[in-house]
Amino acid sequence: MTSHVPDTHVSPVWGDEAPIVADVVGLISRRITRSSDPKTTARTASELAADAGTTITAAGLGSAQALRIFEDVLAPATRAQDDPYNLAYIPAAPTQAARAFDAAVSSFNIFAGTWEAGAGAIFAENEALGWLIDLLGWPSTAGGCFVSGGTMGNLSALVAARSHVRHLRGRDAAGAILCTVDAHSSISAAARVMDVEVVLVDEDDRGHLTGTATRAALAEHPEVFAVVASSGTTNGGVVDDIADLADVCEEFQIWLHVDGAYGGAGLAAPSVRDRFDGIERAHSFVVDPHKWLFAPYDCCALLYRDVTLARAAHAQHASYLDLIDREAWNPADLAIHLSRRARGLPLWFSLAVYGTDRYTEAIERTVATARAIAHAIDECDWLRLLLAPELSVLVFDRPGWSDDDYNRWSSRLAREGLLLCVPTRWKGQTALRLAIVNPATQAQHTIDVLRETTAQQPD
Ligand SMILES: *Cc1c(COP(=O)(O)O)cnc(C)c1O
Repeated sequence: MTSHVPDTHVSPVWGDEAPIVADVVGLISRRITRSSDPKTTARTASELAADAGTTITAAGLGSAQALRIFEDVLAPATRAQDDPYNLAYIPAAPTQAARAFDAAVSSFNIFAGTWEAGAGAIFAENEALGWLIDLLGWPSTAGGCFVSGGTMGNLSALVAARSHVRHLRGRDAAGAILCTVDAHSSISAAARVMDVEVVLVDEDDRGHLTGTATRAALAEHPEVFAVVASSGTTNGGVVDDIADLADVCEEFQIWLHVDGAYGGAGLAAPSVRDRFDGIERAHSFVVDPHKWLFAPYDCCALLYRDVTLARAAHAQHASYLDLIDREAWNPADLAIHLSRRARGLPLWFSLAVYGTDRYTEAIERTVATARAIAHAIDECDWLRLLLAPELSVLVFDRPGWSDDDYNRWSSRLAREGLLLCVPTRWKGQTALRLAIVNPATQAQHTIDVLRETTAQQPD
């Protein structure tokens, strides 16, 4: 018996698509194996319209023309997130293995919302999540799934938190989330979506949320159902006092969510692991492998210490879903989604190929690079280190420069493809910030560029 589907088939509508597939596969492999161009950058929609022409037509452009427009016009109008000297925001440095496998995941077109449709893929995603669960020191009750990003992960975790605390304490007892002003903007976005308040607590002078400040605030705000600790903050890379916050959350019987979208990868780096002490007692956690775990967009690992609490909050019920085996491991039951691609597979593949030791080595290398750059800034007469890296983000300034100087310097370096570093605010002042997540970033090169371009006022 042979399958009723021939290996290659000609669609009655699309015709023979094999040559198109070959063209796209060629593009994928060219792109993955070539280094990216740091000078690519956004352009206006009218410039793009002029160069791309009309792309959606009744008759279709054909693949050669559509691919040419993408490769020559559209792709160059996007920023190279993986350039080793893109150190702005939180860049990304996916392995070639992970990028290639991301293309493979699309080719399999797996529905990974339910075990029944996506078992093999979900099994592999769970292997990757299992590595993170081990790093967290969580028990066998733990589990989770991959969602698009930290924003969706934080929202899903906080919805589970509210549902759990309401169950314990009643509906009215769950009306606010507690965090600091440096918590990521997605936390206040989640609060708006959930129609709950945010109780903002002052940080200590190094930017941490502490147990003492949290205890004092909770005494005045019984409506808080969750504390959000950052590990670390996006702006400063600072890890809140997780162990003290875990004590306080236990005392007040509220949920502790740790937002490690950027910094959670530090769990795998022995030189910074102690900053995460206490995380074994958190209720939920997110980390974006598309930030510091060498996976491509879009990928967030969302984990719960007791996964049954997530199911209680998130499982969707509908007549056509009633046949779904609720005993099985359905990622759809664990976050705000139903249909989903198996977006954890690029991470799984890369981890499986290289092994976890290589991940530890890659993360440690970025931490060492951040420390070396910070040290050189500290030694430089005209630069001032404002925040040494706790993980791999550092903040500094150039005393004597105005906001305009910073902007001109930053634009010039970006234009020349030398370094992408954009101004931020630190303790009310304009400052510069570097985020190192790419093992290919060389400390010495970064230091040379910084010293050479900041000695004088920018022109
Ligand atoms: C980036 C980031 C987020 C948001 O993640 P997305 O993947 O961009 O949605 C949330 N929290 C922290 C700490 C982050 O750094």
